Amino acid sequence: MLGFFLAAVAAFLVLGYLQAPIIAWTVAGGALAAVLSAVAGFGATANVVLAVLWVAGAAVLNLRVLRRWIVSDPILAIYRRILPDMSSTEKEAIDAGTIWWDADLFSGRPDWDKLLAIPEPRLTPEEQAFLDGPCEDVCTMVNDWEVTHERFDLPPRVWQVLKDKGFLGMIIPKQYGGLGFSALAHSAVVMKLSTRSNTLAVSVMVPNSLGPAELLLHYGTEEQKNHYLPRLARGQEVPCFALTSPEAGSDAASIPDYGVVCRGLWQGKEVLGMRVTWDKRYITLGPVASLIGLAFRLYDPEHLLGDRDDLGITCALVPAHTPGVDIGRRHLPLNAAFQNGPTRGKDVFMPIDWIIGGKDYAGKGWMMLMNCLAAGRSISLPTSSVGGAKALARYTGAYARVRSQFRTPIGRLEGVEEALGRIAANCYLMDATRVMTAGAVDAGEKPSVISAIAKYHMTERIREIVNDSMDIHGGKGICLGPNNYVGRGYQVIPVGITVEGANILTRSLIIFGQGAIRCHPYVLREMRAAKELQGAEASREFDDAFTSHFGHTIANGVRAFVHSLTGSRLAPVPRGAAPEMRRYYQRVGHLSAAFAFLADMAMLAMGGALKRKEKISARLGDVLSMMYLISATLKRYEDQGRQREDLPLIHWSVRDALWQAQQAIDSIYANFPVPSLRALLRWVVFPLGTPFRPAKDRHNHRCAKIVLEPGAARERLTAGMYVGRGESDVTGALEAAFLATIECEPIEKKLREAVKSGRLATRSGVDTAALAREHGFISDSELALWRRKETLRKHVIQVDDFPPDFGRAEIEQRLAQEQVTAKAA
Ligand SMILES: Cc1cc2nc3c(=O)[nH]c(=O)nc-3n(C[C@H](O)[C@H](O)[C@H](O)COP(=O)(O)OP(=O)(O)OC[C@H]3O[C@@H](n4cnc5c(N)ncnc54)[C@H](O)[C@@H]3O)c2cc1C
Repeated sequence: MLGFFLAAVAAFLVLGYLQAPIIAWTVAGGALAAVLSAVAGFGATANVVLAVLWVAGAAVLNLRVLRRWIVSDPILAIYRRILPDMSSTEKEAIDAGTIWWDADLFSGRPDWDKLLAIPEPRLTPEEQAFLDGPCEDVCTMVNDWEVTHERFDLPPRVWQVLKDKGFLGMIIPKQYGGLGFSALAHSAVVMKLSTRSNTLAVSVMVPNSLGPAELLLHYGTEEQKNHYLPRLARGQEVPCFALTSPEAGSDAASIPDYGVVCRGLWQGKEVLGMRVTWDKRYITLGPVASLIGLAFRLYDPEHLLGDRDDLGITCALVPAHTPGVDIGRRHLPLNAAFQNGPTRGKDVFMPIDWIIGGKDYAGKGWMMLMNCLAAGRSISLPTSSVGGAKALARYTGAYARVRSQFRTPIGRLEGVEEALGRIAANCYLMDATRVMTAGAVDAGEKPSVISAIAKYHMTERIREIVNDSMDIHGGKGICLGPNNYVGRGYQVIPVGITVEGANILTRSLIIFGQGAIRCHPYVLREMRAAKELQGAEASREFDDAFTSHFGHTIANGVRAFVHSLTGSRLAPVPRGAAPEMRRYYQRVGHLSAAFAFLADMAMLAMGGALKRKEKISARLGDVLSMMYLISATLKRYEDQGRQREDLPLIHWSVRDALWQAQQAIDSIYANFPVPSLRALLRWVVFPLGTPFRPAKDRHNHRCAKIVLEPGAARERLTAGMYVGRGESDVTGALEAAFLATIECEPIEKKLREAVKSGRLATRSGVDTAALAREHGFISDSELALWRRKETLRKHVIQVDDFPPDFGRAEIEQRLAQEQVTAKAA
């Protein structure tokens, strides 16, 4: 009997692992029944009963008509009852965009070969020239303190360059006069700008993200495209997009702003149009926009467009000078100086052909917005966060080498090193995610779930990085002024967290919520069968999806269990993968199976209520997200030719992400709403206990070292950022001080040894280096190097102080004079 029991378990594991077809399970069941009969010595009657049971079971499982009648149709009936109805806006949001590598991670068996076969995304020579030319130049022109403290805006000459050089039309194709850049190039530009000034980056980011240009490209009429796109590309129009209102923030589909279809006078003629009333806030570029993309709900009570009263959300392009448009006031978003403010209008009449796409697109605004959201969300905030990460990795490493306390560069003190190593490793992972995601967009994807993952995790990681960086800079990061290159970044972090889907909502509702339906191989098919199909068609489709789903769940449970018992060693590894990365591919394979199983169990246990169980949904989303971030990191290592110097960054960030995923899984079953399933889940997913350990200190030490020393790994990590030019620039001085500090370390050693041995007597107020020169401990050239280093070091550790009015009177006077000169010119 023990042999029989073991054979039954082995058969279950093998068939489950291989996701065997039903017929294989049936045959195996028959064989086991025969063995059982022989082992137990059943009599004739028992054998007949066993045979009848087997034949009946085999018939029900293998004959589709019977299976539908006895199994799947009753389940379909229950499914229809419990499946919550979806509003059209929810449905449009779920259907929007495409799925990509996220679907592989959801499958429980990611196809690594497919991922690694995707070529590394690369810039064209023209795009690289733009980054090295106009983009570098405009960075040089901007002084962030002048922008955020003196002008509360970019200087007019910078605005002009942005318009003239096409920064505002990077996504507009060349045929309309735009730059026609790839997503990767768009991302590289935003990243570089954000390493110089957040205001600069946001001002460029917004016209290239979801807004008039993107909507026109996808839905505009030929007339609208030919009129507006060249003007937007040349910066003759400054666009904004106004969706959010005081009553509708995250729940943007509930906007109260409305329009009523009517006839009215336009330029002396009676035309079909709309009277629109809106009250919007937080609109980026709003105060300086000349063209407002406006979202409102359109009603047609007189049925001038069709037979429906409520047409739904509609998007129109409204010139800002239209009579009745109120625009120009500003918000002050955490001292960031990008233009942001409210816009209002009351009963503003506009022709019907101002609707983007014309009157045929009345009421299709939400679908348009949802379909266009992913591309911009994949780029804008993930990319600007990576820019911040690169700048902070470079600056914080440099500062931690220049700044000494307890006669040691602070970066070598273990506590500081821990934060510094974390900054460097996070930066590597973030850049890997940026490049892989932009590559997906360039390959034609509009990755809705992945864009949410990238947006959420990049903005959260930059929050962690900036906190670490502030801690390392101490008071230097806190006192604002032209010499502070960290503080403004710290202030502005919540903006990225809040916009394009506030982060709590994105984590709790979108990542897993949308992923579970879109990326799951069977759930959407089951839902469609239940809600959209009828009769035999619904029954056939549901049966097919449901039985496959059942096999999928068993397979992933078994795989998770087997991977746990075997330390993930049976999980697939891509062909030709770097040997040092093999275990990580296998670990993610294990996680993927565990995640897919848990996702199915959560959906089974909670059904539609899972939507309200945001904490569980958020943790499932965390597991999916960590797998995506690790995938990007592993791919980058291969794409960049397996740079061995970068290994600590990969080891630390991958181990940390595995650890975070494991913690999320732990919290899922600890809080699983069906207590009886908690032990089962734990037993299936991690039967031998949790397998992943936190990232190691020795990797953290080496990560910190990468940013504490000049070298190829540091350059690769911060590639694409703007590095300040000249010692008059605060970050240029920091870079020079960093190099000078390293150059002077042998001199410092000599001085220290001379003092320690008593051969050089020094005290406060004495120029030790000069004394050392006098006594022949160092040469003239060493003294010169030392003096230069000291000048730079003092410059770098200095913080700003101001007159009591923080210099406002002088600034106002200077700006007023500038205006007079500009007017005269
Ligand atoms: C600087 C800035 C620039 C902006 N630019 C633009 C722009 O150009 N155009 C435009 O139209 N809008 C813009 N916005 C608006 C932005 O998209 C909204 O602020 C955002 O959608 C959140 O809305 P809210 O601020 O009203 O927060 P609320 O919706 O009030 O949310 C408050 C909190 O509740 C959480 N929350 C809400 N619902 C859920 C849920 N179901 N589950 C879990 N948590 C939830 C949110 O995550 C958030 O943490 C901008 C906002 C800012 C601050």
